[in-house]
Amino acid sequence: MSAPLLAVEGLSLQIDSENGIVRALDQVSFSVAEGETYALVGESGCGKSMTALSLMRLLPPGGAITRGNVILDGRDLCRISEADMRRVRGAGMAMIFQEPGTSLNAVLTVGQQIGEVLAIHRGLRGKAAAQEAISLLRQVGIPDPQRRLGEYPFQFSGGMKQRVMIAMALAGEPRLLIADEPTTALDVTIQAQVLEVMSKLQRERGMAMILITHDLGVVARVAQRIGVMYAGHLIEEAPRERFFAHPAHPYSRKLFAALPEGHRERGMLATIPGSVPPLTTVFTGCRFAERCDSAWQRCHGEPPAWHDAGPQQRVRCHLFDPDETMQAASDSELAVHAARDTSVGSSGNLLEVRDLKVHFPITSGVFRRVVGQVRAVDGLDLEIAAGRTLALVGESGCGKTTVGKAILRLIEPSGGVTRLDGENVASFAGARLRAMRASMQ
Ligand code: SF4
Repeated sequence: MSAPLLAVEGLSLQIDSENGIVRALDQVSFSVAEGETYALVGESGCGKSMTALSLMRLLPPGGAITRGNVILDGRDLCRISEADMRRVRGAGMAMIFQEPGTSLNAVLTVGQQIGEVLAIHRGLRGKAAAQEAISLLRQVGIPDPQRRLGEYPFQFSGGMKQRVMIAMALAGEPRLLIADEPTTALDVTIQAQVLEVMSKLQRERGMAMILITHDLGVVARVAQRIGVMYAGHLIEEAPRERFFAHPAHPYSRKLFAALPEGHRERGMLATIPGSVPPLTTVFTGCRFAERCDSAWQRCHGEPPAWHDAGPQQRVRCHLFDPDETMQAASDSELAVHAARDTSVGSSGNLLEVRDLKVHFPITSGVFRRVVGQVRAVDGLDLEIAAGRTLALVGESGCGKTTVGKAILRLIEPSGGVTRLDGENVASFAGARLRAMRASMQ
C-alpha cells in the first residue's frame, strides 16, 4: 500500500490560557490518501478546527504542538522552519474558512487577492496572472469572470464569496485542501452548488480534502472516510458507508439520533444532554462518560483504547474491548441463570419479579372437578429500578393486566416471587399488605 498524502501521528496541541493549560488536541492520528475526502465531524469545541489550524501551523496565541508529527508527502511539517512552512501554506495545502466575508480583504479587489497567491506560489504576474485568475473564477462557477475580477468582496453574495475563497485556495495548486465548515454560512441551495463545485474540482485535480463540519448531510454527500472528534480526541473512524449504516461510538450514535429526519418530523428530536467538557480538565477516564448512557465504572476510571468495530472501523470505547465483550457475554449468561433461579438477589431494583405464574383452573361438572389449567401468566421475569418506566406490551388477552394484578396480589399468583424494595410481597398480610398496596398502586 502506498504512503498516504497526509499522515497525522499522535498530534497534541496545548494552549497556555488564563484559565490554565487547554489540551485542545490529544494524540490525534489519522491519514488522508491522494484524491480522498476525509471528514472530521463533531460538536463545536471538540477540536476539529484546532486540528485544521495545527496542520497549517496557524496556532492561537499561547498554543504549541507538544507531541506528534504532521507528515505531508513525506515531510514532517512540525520540524520545518516557518519560512518553509509559508511555502507549504497555499501550495502544499490550502484552507478555506466558514466565513468568507471575514477571510477576504475588504479593500483589495478579488483579482488582486487571487493575483497575490499566484505570484507567491506560482510566480505568475501581469497578464498571465490575470488570465489564470479568470480561469479560476470560471472553474468555480462565477459568471462574467473578467468583469468580476475588478470588483471588491462586498459586491459578491455569500455563495459567490465562498467561490472566490475556493478560487484563491486553488490558485496555489495545493495537493490538500482543508475546508473548515465551508458551507455552514450558506443557504441550502447555495450550499449544494458550492459542494458540487468543490467535489468537481477535487476530482479534476486529484486533490485530497479534509472537510470539517458538524453537518452529517454534507458528510454523506462528499466524504469517503469519516473521523469523529470529541473533547480533543478522535473517537471513531470509518468509511462513509459503514459509518452511516453502523455508527459505533455512543457519541456518534447520539449525533445520528439528533438528526431531523422525515420519520421524526412530528416527534421530539433527541438531544445530547450536557456539553463538551472543558479542555482544561485532566481526564482520568472516557471523556464522554458524563453524557454516555452506556457508561459504567470502568469508563470513569480508565481512558478507552482503540478497538476494531467493523471493516476498517475503529472506535475508542470500552464497549468494543474484546475482553469486555467476553465479560459481558459471561455476565449475561449469569443473568440468565439468575433469572431461572426464583430467589431474588439484592440487585438494587425497586421491583423484581421472578418466574411469576398465574394459572386458573378449568373446572367441569357439578363437583367442579379441575380438568385443566389456563396458564394466563407462565414464568415471567421483570425488574424495575426506582424512577424508571417499564412498558409491558402485547395484544388483548395475553396476560398484561393479570401480571399487574398478581404483582399487587389482587390475584394470588400460582408461583414465583415478587419483591418490592427487597421484601417478598407474598409474606405481607393484614396492615402490611394494605400499606404495600398503598405504595404500589
Ligand atoms: Fe460510553 Fe464508556 Fe464507551 Fe466512553 S468508554 S463511550 S463512557 S461506554
